[in-house]
Amino acid sequence: MGWVKRRWVKIATLSVVLIVAIGATGFFTVAPGKIESLRNRVVPVDLPEVSAETQALHDSLQVVDMHSDTLMWDRDLLDRAGRGHMDLPRLEDGNVALQIFSSVSKSPEGQNYDSNTDESDNITLLAIAQLQPFRTWGSLLERSLYHAEKLDKAARESGGSLVLIRSKGDLERLIADREAGKQVTGGLFSVEGLHNLEGDFDNLDRLYDAGMRMAGFTHFFDNEVAGSMHGVDKGGLTDLGRRVFAEMERRGVIVDLAHASHAAVAEMLDLATKPVVVSHGGVQATCEVNRNLTDVEIRGVASTGGVIGIGYWNAAICARTTKAVVDAIDHVVAFGGLETAALGSDFDGATVVGWDTSELAAITQELVNRGYEDNEVAAIMGGNTLRVLGETLPD
Ligand SMILES: [Zn+2]
Repeated sequence: MGWVKRRWVKIATLSVVLIVAIGATGFFTVAPGKIESLRNRVVPVDLPEVSAETQALHDSLQVVDMHSDTLMWDRDLLDRAGRGHMDLPRLEDGNVALQIFSSVSKSPEGQNYDSNTDESDNITLLAIAQLQPFRTWGSLLERSLYHAEKLDKAARESGGSLVLIRSKGDLERLIADREAGKQVTGGLFSVEGLHNLEGDFDNLDRLYDAGMRMAGFTHFFDNEVAGSMHGVDKGGLTDLGRRVFAEMERRGVIVDLAHASHAAVAEMLDLATKPVVVSHGGVQATCEVNRNLTDVEIRGVASTGGVIGIGYWNAAICARTTKAVVDAIDHVVAFGGLETAALGSDFDGATVVGWDTSELAAITQELVNRGYEDNEVAAIMGGNTLRVLGETLPD
């Protein structure tokens, strides 16, 4: 009866191998897309009807969005995807002139707005599931460099329809080309959390060389450079953080206050000699959660000549409507002036939103309905952010 037993062992072994193989295939091929579909959703909402006149206005704008996490996901930016919130075809549909693409390199399990430690990380599993290069599995710096490479590659393969923005000259060329009627979209690389420096000041060089021209100091946990508004201690800048801040200003890397603790925000506003931005978020006056800006902070950003990008997801504006977006914009305008209001979608940032980037004319319509003049709409939809970039990017 020995052969029967051996046969069963063989069948059992084969079954296990088969199950593991199917599991692995699912993990590496189905899971990444599935995870993204679950995390970056669009829940359709009633959008204002865009009139022909507003569409014409929208088509004449230079729209700028300060924050998207699309680089984190396993997709080709150049292909129209059936999931998530943006890609180049949808940016073109939404007449976006410049998209700032952020790199998320670490995010804690059970992520919440109140308190997170740095002990766990979801991005490691994502990096493995997406079969990213091995060097990105264990290094936060390498993850960001890989995200920058993805953006570079997309621009290289786009035949000139996606261009990288790294200097004032790049920005001027982009706007001149668009004004001349060329279909071209700019992409600027940014970082969400300077824990990707891995505590080493010299790594700023590597990120700068990779194209980083905007950086938020923290994401969801306190790190080597600053306290996070969602961290445990929520402290100010560290010594390394102060060095990094000065070096960023010197080089023309825009300081992004998003996710920094209120203590760190106060300190950076105090140190700032150039405009600073809040790339994505909301205001406490219309949505009272600790991730949002107080009126004092709004005035502080305005006093540097910077801008505040209002997001479209529930936790930033306490709703998913264009009305809630413009309510927050109205408040920024009231406390910081018209020149401080801007857009920061957080598209593809594991957010659930009411529209994707192809439908941005709905926000233009809401601004028009609210009584903003054409030149004011142009400033809010992108002109203000272009001004800040023009003042801060390197020559
Ligand atoms: Zn964020």
